[in-house]
Order: sequence, then C-alpha cells, then structure tokens
Amino acid sequence: MKYISTRGATAPKSFSEVLLMGLAPDGGLMLPEHYPQVGEVTLQEWRTLSYPELAFKIISLFATDIPSDDLRDIVNSTYTEGTFGTKEITPVRSLSDGIKIEALSNGPTLAFKDMAMQFLGNAFEYVLNKEGKQVNILGATSGDTGSAAEYALRGKKGVNVFMLSPEGKMSAFQRAQMFSLQDENIHNIAVEGMFDDCQDIVKAVQNDAEFKAKYHVGTVNSINWGRIVAQVVYYFAGYFNATTSNEQKVSFCVPSGNFGNVCAGHIARQMGLPVHRLIVATNENDVLDEFFKTGRYQPRTTENTHVTSSPSMDISKASNFERFVFDLMDRDADTIQNLWAEVASGKGFDLKGHLEEIHEKYGFVSGKSTHADRLATIRQVYEQDGELIDPHTADGVKVARDVREAGETIVCLETALAAKFDQTIYEAVGNVTIPRPDGLAGLEDLPQRVEVVKNDAELVKDIIRKALD
Ligand SMILES: *Cc1c(COP(=O)(O)O)cnc(C)c1O
Repeated sequence: MKYISTRGATAPKSFSEVLLMGLAPDGGLMLPEHYPQVGEVTLQEWRTLSYPELAFKIISLFATDIPSDDLRDIVNSTYTEGTFGTKEITPVRSLSDGIKIEALSNGPTLAFKDMAMQFLGNAFEYVLNKEGKQVNILGATSGDTGSAAEYALRGKKGVNVFMLSPEGKMSAFQRAQMFSLQDENIHNIAVEGMFDDCQDIVKAVQNDAEFKAKYHVGTVNSINWGRIVAQVVYYFAGYFNATTSNEQKVSFCVPSGNFGNVCAGHIARQMGLPVHRLIVATNENDVLDEFFKTGRYQPRTTENTHVTSSPSMDISKASNFERFVFDLMDRDADTIQNLWAEVASGKGFDLKGHLEEIHEKYGFVSGKSTHADRLATIRQVYEQDGELIDPHTADGVKVARDVREAGETIVCLETALAAKFDQTIYEAVGNVTIPRPDGLAGLEDLPQRVEVVKNDAELVKDIIRKALD
C-alpha cells in the first residue's frame, strides 16, 4: 500500500514513511491510494475477534511494509486490559433512551486520543529503532493532545518530547497529568502566553530549517496518518458490539473538532463497514456543522473562535477535513489545491452542489450543542441513568437525540471521562462525587516537573539544545 497527498505533488510513500510525517511537502495530507474493501465473509470472520486481533487485521491492510509478526507485537502490547481498563478495550453500553455509548476514554489520559496515540508511540519506537533514527517531538497543547502524546512516548527509545502549554491555562487535573511525569525524555514547557503563542513558537522552530534538521524536530499532530488508521479499528469494534448480524446498520455520532475522529469513521464506511450515517456533532465552534448543512466551508478567525465548556473541540478550522473533501471531489488534487487556495485567502469555499452526495452517498449529517445544551444533557443522563458523562460526550448525545430517526441505532463515541472536566460537571449537577479511575487518586499532589519560559521561540530552542547537546 502506497500513500499519496491530497495536493498531488508528493511522490508516493510507504506506511513507515508517512508515520513520521506531518503535512506533506506540498501542503496536503497523506492518504492511502485506495481503501481496502471488506466484504461480508471478512466481516463475519472479524466479528468474533478480540480487539488486538481486529486491530492487527485492519492495520495490516494499511501497514504493508511492517512484517506481520512485528505488527502483531506492536498491536498486542498496545491494546491491553492494563492500559485500557477492560478486556473488550472499547465496550459499548446503552442509555435508557436506547442511545448507545462506545467507551474510548479509559486509557491513561481519560480521552479517546489515547486509542491512537498509544499505538503511534509503539509504532514510532519500532520504526525509529529499525532505521536507527531519532526524533524530537515538539508540540503545543491546550490539554488532551499533549498529555496523550506524553503518555504514549514516555520512556520510548529514540524519542524526546518537548511539549509547550500555556502557563496557568490548563485545568489542575490536566497540569498534574502532564507535569507529574518523571521520565527523562519528557520535557514540559509552560509558556507565559496563550495556546496560540505556543503554536506560533512551534511554527517558528519548524521554520528554522537548520535547527529543525540538526535536532530532528518532528510532530505528532492530529493530521498524522498513524493516528487515523488506529482509530478506524474502534468503528469496526463498535459496530460488532452494537449488532448481532452484519445485516444491521448503525450510525455513529462523533463529537468533532479537527475532524480526525470522524475521518476514521468515513474510512471505515468506505471500506465497507455497514454504517448508516456519520453524525458530526460540534459545539459553538460550528464550522463543520455549517458545512454539512449548507455546503459552505468557512474557517473562523481567532477572534471568532469561542472558548467553550468542551475545549477539545474549540477549533477555527478542521485540519483533517481536506481528506474527506479529496474523496468527495473524486480525488482530484487540482480541485483540492484550488479549494484550499480559497481557504488560505480567507474566502473559504462552497460545495452546495454536492450536498446530496454528501448526505446520501457519504452518509454525513451534523448538529451542534451550546453550553446550556451540554449542561442539560449531562443532568438528564445523570438523572435517568445515574452516570456522569463529560461535556464532549454530552455534545454527541445531545446531537444524536436531535437527529435520531425511528429505529436507528446510534453509537455515540465517548471522547473523554467526566473526571477530566469536574467544573462543568459541578455546574450541571451540583456537588457530586465524580468517579476517578483507580491509580489517579491524589494525582494533583504528586511532584511536578515543568520549566516556565517567556513567550519567546529562542528560549524554547535553548531548552531543546540544553537537553540534547
Ligand atoms: C480531540 C478531542 C475531540 C475532537 O476530536 P477531533 O478528532 O479533533 O474531531 C473531541 N473530544 C475530546 C475529548 C477530544 O480530546
């Protein structure tokens, strides 16, 4: 299997190569040259597999340059009960109104990003060691991504992580999660500024070609193909868990920001998984809801990006969205170049003429929630089912209830646990005890390791030099 860029001007690459890539050199995103097709016989065979066996089967179709035994080892050491809390890895449960929830947030950082990051960490280490390479990951985080990357890469050979976060802006729990890591290859850097300042520093360091080459600076952001492919697995697992026969169809409702999660759902559906609809649920940052309703894609300015109670979905543009539009435009790279030139100029684009195809052929629909909606949903689920869901998952449940058709089975993806967002939970239901997984009690009391710096890329480079020279 070779990988091509959505902009058409990058030579085809192997899986191991795209694993270590961010954006393609032509500015596009990497995608497999075709989607492997999964028929009825294969679905039947896969239905009874354990999660790691299923992950092996699916990822094998994409990672054709990794020997089977090695891939099996990577997957078996990733998807364990020890890391994800249950033998099923992503169990599906039902709320009393029939909406189903697939648990994806029982990994080390209590958000779904662990599902892909844990795989990526192991795959990274494997590819780097095999090629005798080293990589130093530089990233910016406002919470979930950074911690998921650190827990995936801690202690890995050949990898260092330098993670920037805005000083004092993350929750006490998120800070404790990241800063309590004592692994030597993990470097937490708190920047005196906002998340955007952290991102600007990452860009400035990336743009210093000499520094970037000398210190092997890489990224693991949401456009990484290795993350998408690992996410495809839980759509299959969720489907098998929610059905008893392959005649049945299910819809998935996905709390969305950068379109990484639901992009994996699109790929699963293109492979032949019997998915009825893919329901994109946004918060007040509704650039995707607008597109799926009207065909218009208009990224927001920073001033028009809202800070919400579902912060992991507070995005101005959806970085993985180009992958879907590439498929929608029959994989015509010239069209993609033209559309994203319109995005770059601030104009955005309009694919109104394709709405029927988007809804009928690709199964996409969308909805959104407000802060009040999420609070009401958390409260209702608590009263009716006695369980606490986090504000991102509540966004999905709210939208699923809004759009559900008679007889439709909807699986909502649980993208985080309530324990991560205690303030919003208290606002919704008052002062309750929020369950926290074993092992995280007293997390905030552990010693923390973090270096605070002024908002200056040169100072961050100094930290990297000091650590590596
Ligand atoms: C990252 C994240 C999302 C959004 O996922 P995308 O892949 O960016 O669409 C939703 N919920 C939580 C809790 C997240 O961490």
